[in-house]
Amino acid sequence: MNFDTKLVRFDQCPDDPYRPVATPIYQTATFEQEFATEFGDYDYSRSGNPTRTVLEKQLALLENAGRAFCFSSGMAAMAAISRLVKPGEEILAGTDLYGGAYRLFSRILQPRGIGVRYAAGTSLDELRETITPQTRLLHIETPGNPLLSITDIAAVAELAHSYGALLSVDNSMMSPYLQAPLDHGADIVVHSATKFLCGHSDVTAGVVAVNSTKLAQDLYLIQNGEGAALGPFDCFLLLRGLKTLGLRMQRQQENALRILDFLQRHPQVKRVFYPGWGSAQEQSIHEKQARGGGALVAFETGDVELSRHVAEQTKIFAITVSFGSVNSSISLPYFMSHSSIPPELREKSCFPHDLVRLSVGIEDEKDLIADLEQAFNSHHAITEVRSCTEEEKLAMNQRE
Ligand SMILES: *Cc1c(COP(=O)(O)O)cnc(C)c1O
Repeated sequence: MNFDTKLVRFDQCPDDPYRPVATPIYQTATFEQEFATEFGDYDYSRSGNPTRTVLEKQLALLENAGRAFCFSSGMAAMAAISRLVKPGEEILAGTDLYGGAYRLFSRILQPRGIGVRYAAGTSLDELRETITPQTRLLHIETPGNPLLSITDIAAVAELAHSYGALLSVDNSMMSPYLQAPLDHGADIVVHSATKFLCGHSDVTAGVVAVNSTKLAQDLYLIQNGEGAALGPFDCFLLLRGLKTLGLRMQRQQENALRILDFLQRHPQVKRVFYPGWGSAQEQSIHEKQARGGGALVAFETGDVELSRHVAEQTKIFAITVSFGSVNSSISLPYFMSHSSIPPELREKSCFPHDLVRLSVGIEDEKDLIADLEQAFNSHHAITEVRSCTEEEKLAMNQRE
């Protein structure tokens, strides 16, 4: 079966005598046992729940993984993979990094004895200089957040493996519809399923998917032992959202490309960012490992005030930190999603303060473009008023 078929044609409810076509929500904490000395398939929902099993099997299938595990958020999924690293060992992460991942690594793990290093994921040389024999986990995002930079998954996997380290790839931005990191040598795929997998901004969830049986055993121990598994109702919502992943991604990407076209021609836009649109090298890497650029677009205006104005004046694009939803959103990453990264590191990845990030939804592209247009245009209007009429000057003088 091809991907779009897999999204809807799967066993939604194994073993149910009524054969429902949507997965029931097994909203129960415990399961009655037939025998006092033997467990059945399920005993306690932290350890396993039928709604979660269907979702985890489906996600494993979509990521070409052996097993997948669902967590209560993307960060809970990240925390679970960080448990594979012991005190004294190290994590090496790319600098174009989600702010919450930085916070987990540097503010929670580092003070507890886990070494943390950062290097530009886009530069194999820099990664090679920074990796050490203690590195246990190399973690990257490609496309990187928020500059949409591209890292060569296969090349980085080879580097990680030559040091006996694992490579984890955050696939939240592409989703398995556009990119399957395990196919390119990654050991672990991690998702904030809150983003494209769910697609409706109504669940926070995380996913970890792996091929190795040993890693799967370790991750199951962590999921069950630490208790951050996704609850049945959220599993149901995520299963439901996931069915339209292909349709949503296709439409959102089409809209994103139209908006890019508008932005590129706009006189107040200095630079646009889109996965695979950087250097020729980045382009060829992205084409090799992904099937499209997705629905995130970033641009610089050269003026923080103008960027702020555009973000605040758009009516359809909502100011939110998240991305990947059916509705469009706009954010200033420097001040929002990435504010937990200290300035030194933000400078290291050449992080522009005036960067505007759009997550493009499924609305009518004409409405989206008109919305951006009016936001840019109203900037002139306001500066004109602000540069004071005679009456305003007079009024100001009178107040003094
Ligand atoms: C949002 C996000 C996370 C964290 O996920 P939550 O579901 O918010 O906990 C991790 N990585 C990336 C790339 C994200 O965008």
